[in-house]
Amino acid sequence: MEFLPKELEQYIEDHTKPESDILKKLNRETYSKVNMPRMLSGHLQGRTLALFSKMIKPKNILEIGTYTGYSAICLAEGLQENGKLYTIDINEELEEMVKHYFKEANVESKINLLIGNALEIIPTLNTSFDLVFIDADKENYFNYYNLVFDKVKPGGYIIADNVLWSGKVIQKTEKKDKDTEALKNFNQKIQEDTRIENVLMPIRDGLMVIRKKDN
Ligand code: SAH
Ligand code: CA
Repeated sequence: MEFLPKELEQYIEDHTKPESDILKKLNRETYSKVNMPRMLSGHLQGRTLALFSKMIKPKNILEIGTYTGYSAICLAEGLQENGKLYTIDINEELEEMVKHYFKEANVESKINLLIGNALEIIPTLNTSFDLVFIDADKENYFNYYNLVFDKVKPGGYIIADNVLWSGKVIQKTEKKDKDTEALKNFNQKIQEDTRIENVLMPIRDGLMVIRKKDN
């Protein structure tokens, strides 16, 4: 499902500051060399994540689902001086490419790339976070939310990507697929959680933006 007419999408891209040359290159290389390049955040969502990060000015960020590193580089733009971004991915095959781009983007000293299953790695992190970006396997979104919740500072943010899942969250079909059901469950559980404020923003494939209350 396309959410907006092509012309309007183009107009939005044309009136959003362009991505840096390095991000453009990473975008192109992902499309030419890596499986499932549509998973990369891309221009509009990347600039949105960078803007959020600059508004929040986080000391520590956790990203679940690095892929080729595009969103990590965008999120790192808003880090405080001496701030750190931890990013987790289970796919070790991408490690070399990701590290190369972190270096090119001059963020390698600010980013801790952790290779492995996020479900196992998150409980080992003894850090509190101002911002968490959930973007790995959709089936585990609610597990990730529960695992990170106590590590998020009061007043901190959790952003979850792809929560509209190409519109499948509202399609009434007989056959159920695991990812759609998991995302519907995630969105519902967030909506019912009284510890947070949340807005589902229709940016690209849907961003659930969550603020942990500080009272
Ligand atoms: N955040 C990236 C895209 C992430 S794509 C961007 O916006 O550019 C989703 C990633 O989640 C994939 O690279 C996949 O390897 C990773 N992933 C899937 N299951 C995982 C798990 N259990 N633990 C850690 N990473 C996982
Ligand atoms: Ca995504």
